[in-house]
Formats: sequence, structure tokens, C-alpha cells
Amino acid sequence: MNNNKITHNSEKVFPIGEDLEGARAQNILIIGAGLCGSLLALRLGQRGFNVSVYEMRPDLRTTDISAGRSINLALSDRGIKAMKLVGIEDKVKALCIPMNGRMLHDKEGNTFLSNYSGRDYEYINSISRGELNALLLTEAEKHDNVTIHFNKKCKSVDFEKTTALFQDHDSKDEFIEDADCIIATDGAGSALRKSYYLGKKFLFSFSQDFLSHGYKELSILPTESGDYKTYKNALHIWPRSSFMLIALPNLDGSFTVTLFLSFDEGEYNFNNLTTPELVTEFFQKEFPDALEIMPNLVKDFFENPTAALGTVKCSPWHYKGNTLLMGDAAHAIVPFYGQGMNASFEDIVEFDKVLDQNLESLPDGEAGWEATFKTYEKNRKNDTDAIADLAVDNFHEMKGHVSNPIFQEKRKIEMALEKEFPNEYASKYSLVTFNENIGYRHAMLKGRAQDKAILNMLTDKIISSEDDLKDILEKVKAETEAILEDDRIAGL
Ligand code: FAD
Repeated sequence: MNNNKITHNSEKVFPIGEDLEGARAQNILIIGAGLCGSLLALRLGQRGFNVSVYEMRPDLRTTDISAGRSINLALSDRGIKAMKLVGIEDKVKALCIPMNGRMLHDKEGNTFLSNYSGRDYEYINSISRGELNALLLTEAEKHDNVTIHFNKKCKSVDFEKTTALFQDHDSKDEFIEDADCIIATDGAGSALRKSYYLGKKFLFSFSQDFLSHGYKELSILPTESGDYKTYKNALHIWPRSSFMLIALPNLDGSFTVTLFLSFDEGEYNFNNLTTPELVTEFFQKEFPDALEIMPNLVKDFFENPTAALGTVKCSPWHYKGNTLLMGDAAHAIVPFYGQGMNASFEDIVEFDKVLDQNLESLPDGEAGWEATFKTYEKNRKNDTDAIADLAVDNFHEMKGHVSNPIFQEKRKIEMALEKEFPNEYASKYSLVTFNENIGYRHAMLKGRAQDKAILNMLTDKIISSEDDLKDILEKVKAETEAILEDDRIAGL
């Protein structure tokens, strides 16, 4: 792009090549051109920074590489808000398949569609990771001040000198790059986070919690005429208490299916499903209707990797004004709320708000970035900790509770409340997924209190799904407020 002004849909105009104070544009180095890094590059490019991105893999637009995991993902309102910020909402929507609810499959093959919200306009979207990443890279590269280098793996970061050591994939040559600041968006295995940890130069806290369950991707291929073999506009779930299968639609008529299963517990687990006969027997017993439309099951099962799932929390995310972690590098979460990518995109929205305060352009440049990074982390960390915890909760909810009668009655009441009182009631799922203007922590506290209120009142027969809805709403509100007040007193 050669014009020297960029307008975007937030209607701000940023001069290119110089920062807002008219001083030299800052050089920002980004490690990792995945979903978060490519969006960050695009946004910083729009703001006029000089951006260099280094990605360890080849360019996914020109090389046929598997995204490595989760071929498709659920994109929802927080992620879409970020797409609006950079002005590509329409291009992204063209890649989306709306999923209005969860289609639950029982062992007999009966199905039950449970909408995500009582408001028709609230749904999540299935989107291809590769297509979305490719779009973000292309949009970022439209800016002359953004350069993306592929096949360059970051080996370590000297966060005191603000330099990063890279290795070229083909030549194996190593080289060092420096910048005014380095932002690592290199995912759950971040090289910068590792350098913080191994460097032992400051008080860096880090935790990594693995689930006992892992996952494997499988597929439901389209029919010969290219149609979907099962209902397209839903996230399909086969909940089986201690394990589950899910499926999300792709634009080509296929579904990406994911099996979440323990590595070593239960009658069937990843460690003992070692033969085609056992895999078929397991699916025949647990997911017979899925098996019918998965003739490729055994091939997929033995060709595709099994991967672990975990939560990463750490702090601080930054070292002075030199380096910063964003996206999964700062806060990897398990995928059960469909929010990891959405949270990483929301990171950019929140970072952008801090950039609006123009702290990095203070006369003392380094101190300026430090103020930006500190403010960003202070604003953001509670929210990413909250979604990490919510995602683990949802693992248990999706495996089991969704097929539990009391949970289903609660869902029925919540759907009715959302339909009847669209401006007065939002379930925890809606607060997290469709209320992009409130933080995850607020959504968690309110959502958990509401859940507790409804479940307690259903158990104690204070409410039932047959009651007058206005009456239920008032009781739920009062009980929720009482629980929140207890939480406040307890300092939560
Ligand atoms: P990544 O996507 O991991 O990108 C990191 C990038 O950095 C990659 O391109 C990588 O090649 C590169 N890189 C890594 N190391 C280096 C290095 N040393 N040097 C240079 N480059 C490097 N989220 C949702 O919102 N909805 C969902 O439905 C959903 N489903 C999921 C299902 C599964 C099974 C999994 C595992 C995750 C799911 N997620 C979902 C989470 C989502 O995938 C992540 O939160 C998201 O990819 C984070 O983006 P990121 O850019 O921070 O990290």
C-alpha cells in the first residue's frame, strides 16, 4: 500500500512511517505469524509502526502445510470485534459457517438441538484456521511497513538487549535481530517465555497444567455430491461423561471431528486403542451414528497425531519495555469454551486501547513501552485467567452435564428467559461468548452466580420450567445478586 495515510473503521487516521508525536516510527519485531501474530502485525502496521514478523513455518498460502491442530475453530463475538477493528469483518464472515447451537447425539443416535442463545442473532461460527490465518497475513502484507519472514525459527530472546536469535530452516544459518521492542506471539511453546524462565533474571512465575485427556482429529467427509452428511449449522457433540466427540462443519461439505479421551483411564483410552478392531468396537459402542458416516475412521485414527491439552499461566508477561508475550504464548487455555483464538484476538483490541493512550511515545521511549506493556497486562491478566478457568469448567460441562436432566431444564429456562427478556438476561455462555464489551472475569463471576442460583432453585423446587417467566426472572436476579454479594464479602 503506497498511500501515506490509512483509515480504518474506527475512523482514526494514523500517519505511516512516523509515530503520533512525529518522531521516528518504532521498530517492532513479532515472533510467530499465527492467528495472534498476523492480526497484531496488521494492526500495528495500520498504526504506522515498522513491523517485522518472523515465523518458523513456511508460508501457509503457498505451501500445503497442515495447521498442526484444530483445522477449524469456533469464532465468536470477541474475535469478530477484533476483525471489525482492523476493518476485515466482511472478508472473515465470508469464510464462516454459522453454528446456532449444540446438536447432542445420544448412544441410540437420537439428536437434540440446544441453541446457544434465546436470541436468534447470537450464534458462533466455524472457520478454517488456515483460511483465516492466510487472510490476516495477506491483509498485514498490504502495508509497506510490515514485512513477514517465513522459515525463521526463534531459538531464544535476549530480553535485556532486546534481540532475538533465529535459525533459517533451509540454510540452518543463525542470525540475530534487534528492535525497539519484541512481541512474542509464538503460541503455547513460546521461545520468549522459555527465555524468561531459563534466564532467571527476574521473578517470573509460570504454570502449565495438563488435562488427563488428549485429543485426536478425525473427519466426516462430504457426500459424493459434496453435501454435508449431517446437519450443517451446529456444533455436534456426542457427550459420554468421561470422554466426548465433537464435530464442526467446513465450507467443503466435510466436518472436522475431534475425539477428546483420556490417555490412560477408562475401558477405552488413547493408550489402549491400538488396533483397527478396537477403534471400530469403541465407536460402534459409543458413537454408532457417527461411525456410520465415518468410513474413513480407522485411517484417520492411525494417521493423525494424538495431542495433549493444557493451560499455561504466567506473569509478568513483559520484561521492562523490551519484550512482551501475547496470545497463547501468555495464556494458553484448553479449547472447551472455543475461546483461545477469540481471547488472543481480544488481546489485540485491548492492546490497541492502551496504544490509544500513547504511552509508548513518551520522550523516554523505553520507559514508554514499559508503561504500555504494564498497563496492558494490568488490564488484561484477570480476564485471561478467568477464561482459562471457565474453559476447564466447560470441559466437564460438555462431557457430561449437557446430557444431565437438571442441566437441560436449566438450559430450557435460560433459553426462555433470553427469548422473552433479551435485554435483561444473558446466560453464562452468552456473557462469555456474545457479550464482547464485558471482560471474561465479569462474565465468569456473574455467570457462575446465575448458574448456582438456577441450579439451587431447581433442586429446592423453588422454580420450575413451568412457572411464569417474569417470576422466574425476578427470583433468579435476586438469588444471583445475593450470591454475588457473598462473593464480594469473600473478596472474590
Ligand atoms: P498459535 O496459533 O499457536 O500460533 C503461533 C505461531 O507461532 C505459529 O504460526 C507457529 O508456527 C509460530 N511459532 C511457534 N514457535 C515459534 C518460534 N520459535 N519461532 C518462530 N515462530 C514460531 N480457539 C477458539 O477461539 N475457538 C476454538 O474453537 C478453538 N478450538 C481449538 C481446538 C483445539 C484442538 C486447540 C488445540 C485449540 C483451539 N483453540 C480454539 C485455541 C486456538 O487454537 C489458540 O488459542 C490460537 O491458535 C492462539 O493463537 P496464537 O497465534 O497465540 O498461537
